[in-house]
Order: sequence, then C-alpha cells, then structure tokens
Amino acid sequence: MPPRPPRPPRSERPQRLNPAKELAAAAAAYQAAEIVPHCTVCSKPCCSLQTLVLELDWKQLKSFWRLEESRPAFDKRLAGGQGPEEIRAGNGLYYVHGKACPAYDQSCGTCRVYGQDIKPEGCTDFPVYEDGGTLVADLRCEAVDLKALSAWIARALGDGYRIVQSADPEFPFMVTLSVKAMGTKRKRGK
Ligand code: SF4
Ligand code: SF4
Repeated sequence: MPPRPPRPPRSERPQRLNPAKELAAAAAAYQAAEIVPHCTVCSKPCCSLQTLVLELDWKQLKSFWRLEESRPAFDKRLAGGQGPEEIRAGNGLYYVHGKACPAYDQSCGTCRVYGQDIKPEGCTDFPVYEDGGTLVADLRCEAVDLKALSAWIARALGDGYRIVQSADPEFPFMVTLSVKAMGTKRKRGK
C-alpha cells in the first residue's frame, strides 16, 4: 500500500456541514430573535396550556406546585381525584392541560423559570426544534412564520442546500423542514 499523503492541518481542511447541529443552532437563533420577543404580546400563549400539554417529571411538578408531600402520597391523592384536576399521571411523568402553568406570570406574559435548569425541555424546544436532522415547526405558535424560518435556515446553511417543507398528515400544524443537498448537474458537451 503506498504511503498516505500527510493530512493538512485541521484549520485548512474543508468544513463538513453537520445538518443536525446547524439546524439546532438555527432553531435556537430563530427562537431568540423572532419568537421570544413576541411572547409578551401573544394572543394565545402556549403557557396557558389550553391547546398544548405540558410534560413534567416529579422534580419539576414538585417545584412548580410547591408540593410538600412525598411522591407516593401525591400520586395517591391524584389517583383518588383529590389532586389538581389539570394534572394526569402516566409513564412515570405528569401531564398538565387546561389550566395555566404555575410558572407562567400572566401579568407580563413571561416564564418565571426562564433560563433555569428546572424549565422543561419541551418548553425550550417549542415551537421550533431540531429532530433527527430535520427541523420541526409547530404552527400552534402564532409567531412562527414558515417563510422567514426557511430563509433563516437557508442563510445558516449557505449555498448548496434547499429546504423541503411537509406537514404531518395527522397533525397538520406540525411542519417538517428538511434540508436537501442540491446536486450539481454536468453540462453535456456538444
Ligand atoms: S405561543 Fe409562541 S409566541 Fe405565544 S407565548 Fe408561546 S412561544 Fe411565545
Ligand atoms: S415552564 Fe415556563 S415556558 Fe414552560 S409552560 Fe411553564 S411558564 Fe411556560
């Protein structure tokens, strides 16, 4: 086997695009620039939990509802119909729907645990997040603008990629934006 040529220094090698990483960064940047500023004037805040379901683990539930009792005691109370009616237990988690999240400050439309570890991941992801190398946008957020979001991703990825949009057939408000590399067509010689 012939000897391999020496590899150029890392800084001189062509950068390969990591779509998942790039998309996650683009989603976070889009949320910070276009979504978060709208939250305080939103007409249908997601934190009111009228259309969305909040998923919490025990630590989050205990903190948000300021529960003093043990988990078994709370579960027993919930199962007996004596717990908060907006909470359902299942799969080791708790699901909240129909009443505003206790961490939601309705007077100013902000989250009291914003930027804290206790904030549920699903809240941070909503309404635009990376999933398996694609970007998912949830149109239940009135601030999502698919055209602007596509332009945002195109700018983040640079030339050579196109964005393909498709809605979930069962949940049409969930739109997936996939990134496809554009093929280079060869010119035919005469
Ligand atoms: S629905 Fe969208 S704009 Fe409204 S509060 Fe939630 S994230 Fe903010
Ligand atoms: S934790 Fe914060 S972002 Fe999540 S639903 Fe509650 S108030 Fe909204």
